Amino acid sequence: MKKSELTQHKKALHAKKQDLERSIGKKGLTGRSGTDAHGDFADRSTAANEEEISIQLKQTDAKLLRAIEDALGRVEAGAYGVCVDCDDEISATRLEAVPWTKVCIACKEKQYS
Ligand SMILES: [Zn+2]
Repeated sequence: MKKSELTQHKKALHAKKQDLERSIGKKGLTGRSGTDAHGDFADRSTAANEEEISIQLKQTDAKLLRAIEDALGRVEAGAYGVCVDCDDEISATRLEAVPWTKVCIACKEKQYS
């Protein structure tokens, strides 16, 4: 991989990481507010669902954040852009789309078949 490409992916990873940290922080603060005192059962059940969805989103964000930190670790280690399964180079287009990926498209497809 060219150094300029690596720099580009690294930049994308850092930007996404900041994004996620902001969004996780925000959701952490808003947690459960303003829905307790009012509303009949239907309202409450909607609120509960929304809370559940927000928790699920947060878990996904946290998972993604870990994947990004992992990818940044591989950048530092000089192992970024190489598939952890087959040691092939991951294609530039795939890394542009999913910069935190650690498997090539062939191995990814294998996982789901
Ligand atoms: Zn692979």
